[in-house]
Amino acid sequence: MQSGANVKTAGEVYRRLSYGLFVLTTRDGKDNGCIVNTVSQVASAPERICVSVNKSNYTCETVMKTGIFNACILSADVPFSVFTRFGFQSGRTVDKFSRFDAAKRSENGLLYLTEFSNSYISAKLCAAVDCGSHMLFVGDVTGAEVLNGEASVTYADYFAKIKPKPAPREKKGFVCKICGYVYKGDELPPDFICPVCKHPAEDFEPIV
Ligand code: FE
Repeated sequence: MQSGANVKTAGEVYRRLSYGLFVLTTRDGKDNGCIVNTVSQVASAPERICVSVNKSNYTCETVMKTGIFNACILSADVPFSVFTRFGFQSGRTVDKFSRFDAAKRSENGLLYLTEFSNSYISAKLCAAVDCGSHMLFVGDVTGAEVLNGEASVTYADYFAKIKPKPAPREKKGFVCKICGYVYKGDELPPDFICPVCKHPAEDFEPIV
């Protein structure tokens, strides 16, 4: 890419990639998990998957430390509350599985979601690549189970059907296109990071 304008519109292009949505679970003393959109199978012999996780996430730190994770594939019936619980708060300060009964333990000792998820994959870390803002984890598949016949949710479904529309009353400011957080002010600092979902200033748009 040559011009800054092209880089700026890359976010819109990425939105057209056909991502799914997942809860990535870990455990370091307490059970934890975060929302990711980047789980893919990357090899069949051996069976391997990859996932990239924002470095500021507690989940990222825990995967580095413990070397195991579960990827729970979210289904099309997933409500916004699952994103609020697992995506818009940090496991450093909150027990995300508190008062959450829809989870069971897989053979690797980690939790997987039994509701709003149609399957899960357990993996053992075999490589970690520092990609800048995110770590890319590659894992050997140690287990996988189909839980029901629901369709998988897509990132596009999240924007079209799941995420609440921003409140129309806010007169000025910038709204995060990912989570709906509203920054009040006339100018959004270029290095601003959404305090809720940790997406950068490029993912904000002015409230008209
Ligand atoms: Fe946000």
